[in-house]
Amino acid sequence: MAPLSTITPIEYLKGVGPSRAEVLKAELGIHTFGDLLRHYPFRYIDRTQFHKIRQLHPDMPAAQVIGRLVHVEEIGERKGKRLVGHFKDDTGTMELVWFQSIGWLKKSLQVGAAYIIYGKPNVFNNQLSITHPEMEVYHPGAKNTGNMRLQPVYSSTEKLKKFALDSRGIQKLQAALLESIAHQFKEELPEYILHNHGLIPLPKALVAIHFPSDQHELIQAIRRLKFDELFLIQLKLLKNKLLNTHKFKGHRFDVVGDRFNAFYNEQLPFTLTNAQKRVVKEIRRDTASGAQLNRLVQGDVGSGKTVVALMSMLLAVDNGFQACLMAPTEILAQQHYHSIKKLLGGGIASVQLLTGSTPKKDRKVIHAQLEEGTLNILVGTHALIEDAVRFKNLGFVVIDEQHRFGVEQRAKLWRKNSTPPHMLVMTATPIPRTLAMTLYGDLDISVIDELPAGRKPIKTLHLYESSRLRMFGFMKEEIAKGRQVYIVYPLIKESEKMDLLYLEAGLETLTKEFPLPQYRISIVHGKMPVKDKEFEMQRFIKAETQIMVATTVIEVGVDVPNASVMVIENAERFGLSQLHQLRGRVGRGAEQSYCILMSSSKLGKDSKLRLETMVRTNDGFEIAEVDLQLRGPGDIAGTQQSGVLDLKLADLATDQALLTEARNSVINIFKDDPRLANPENTLLREYLTRSEPGISWEKIS
Ligand code: ADP
Ligand code: MG
Repeated sequence: MAPLSTITPIEYLKGVGPSRAEVLKAELGIHTFGDLLRHYPFRYIDRTQFHKIRQLHPDMPAAQVIGRLVHVEEIGERKGKRLVGHFKDDTGTMELVWFQSIGWLKKSLQVGAAYIIYGKPNVFNNQLSITHPEMEVYHPGAKNTGNMRLQPVYSSTEKLKKFALDSRGIQKLQAALLESIAHQFKEELPEYILHNHGLIPLPKALVAIHFPSDQHELIQAIRRLKFDELFLIQLKLLKNKLLNTHKFKGHRFDVVGDRFNAFYNEQLPFTLTNAQKRVVKEIRRDTASGAQLNRLVQGDVGSGKTVVALMSMLLAVDNGFQACLMAPTEILAQQHYHSIKKLLGGGIASVQLLTGSTPKKDRKVIHAQLEEGTLNILVGTHALIEDAVRFKNLGFVVIDEQHRFGVEQRAKLWRKNSTPPHMLVMTATPIPRTLAMTLYGDLDISVIDELPAGRKPIKTLHLYESSRLRMFGFMKEEIAKGRQVYIVYPLIKESEKMDLLYLEAGLETLTKEFPLPQYRISIVHGKMPVKDKEFEMQRFIKAETQIMVATTVIEVGVDVPNASVMVIENAERFGLSQLHQLRGRVGRGAEQSYCILMSSSKLGKDSKLRLETMVRTNDGFEIAEVDLQLRGPGDIAGTQQSGVLDLKLADLATDQALLTEARNSVINIFKDDPRLANPENTLLREYLTRSEPGISWEKIS
């Protein structure tokens, strides 16, 4: 047999065997020695810290006590049956309680002996206790000389416990594993990187993460292993970026021409913010460079991303190319189409809309115009990526709200011209810096961090059901001033039927409270035919109705500057970024706008924090950070597919500094040695090749 190593199947580990191997695979995805090695402890019991019984408190997560087991008795009947031990030190007495394995415990517990016990203190009926404590017989002198000061705790499952693979069981396997292969662990990073970043060697870190000799060593081990995770992601991303810029020649936009200038000088109804100007400049610089542009534009809701997109597309048209803008939903595509037409005001460039519901006849015309090159700008949904859509000369692609599109869809747009078009990605809401660096680290990032002048910050209130009448009264005041109001209901797939019922019930109350002919209400929800939706939207846009009742369909689109109130029903059921996105539908005109969050009074901790955050701040970047802390990166829309967020130790919510350090390090490495050809970088080259076989280094020059 081959010598044991990290790729050895787990059944060959001493103490595992075929049946335990099966459960380890099924329950934890552990197939090899290496997989087990990377099953890190999720916490450590500090075996150096002891408490006296009198110091114990139910707020403590866990405590360790030395004492004597003075008495054991079995009490209760059937389901209430339990074993209770009386445990005593020189400060007091407490109970140890067991509900399981009673028969076995009665035999093995040594009444009268001294024990070290560990567990979570509780108080029940004024009686201090620990349920199912971990315990071992106390040998005087062992207290500080024991070889394990920080005992690792591993996640396990009920099923694994049946195979004696609880935390202790896994701990034993880790010990066996380290004994058999730790001597083969090798360093994977060059010496100079360890030196520059103050990292301990990998072999040492891998041992210490499981069995740290003290707190200091543990902290160093965790830091080293987190650094590796973040560093490798950045190495891959930045290598891709390097490959892109060298491999893909881009269309060179040499001129800023008539259309761009006509739009900017004669048509633009407002002055660009400095942030918008800066981003347009960045895009101009990229498109003049001869390499393909790959840029992410981040900006808060209402920061004016559309006009930046439009000006970029005009730049393309001025240079003899076509441009397209792809949006994730029909409504949003329509919205973009209308606002672009309005901004252009007729003459400057030709624009068409193509979505799933474009009639065949119109579609044919559009296809023909695209191939002839008479159509300059095409706006649409994913209908744009169908094979039948062929451009004469596509030079610039804008993708709005990227996280709803798969990477594959992005790639299809690339292939619509022999030289790939420039790619500008715009996000709907800001994403936290760390997430942007990890998810979009291969793109250049522009941030529009400024709202158009004259916007009044939206005032946000959180109200309970008991204030509903007050809320209606407020709506009436605003409507009397000529303003319009959105009321949004959640519509969540899993509870769709119930949600529609709520919506109906809400509507009934509303129509009584806001009767015709004085008040008119539009209704839009996802279950309606597109034509009806469009009709209702138009009525609201033209101010024929004052109230728009909707489900989240309006989340990503609509721009009605006269709407000044956004009421969100059952606000506790929305995610933070969704709430922020919805709120961004108001505050677009010169008037003071309001967002009213209606919720039930029974709120969980997270819902409360979400609503508090909304009331506290209008800053989308700040909100995104809270969202990341609450949900973790894996749950933030669209990140699951990214495949780069498989982090075991690093946490994008808290490890920002380390991530920045790793990224800067990689940037410098590639600056000096893009092909990693220097001997000192050989390890990095191997490291990267191992994780991504088939890299073509020749392409990097
Ligand atoms: P978002 O970034 O959310 O996509 P939009 O592009 O939809 O924002 O812009 C929001 C609104 O602000 C639109 O009505 C747009 O015309 C307007 N707007 C954009 N830029 C400016 C500006 N510099 N000054 C004033 N209004 C602007
Ligand atoms: Mg937008």
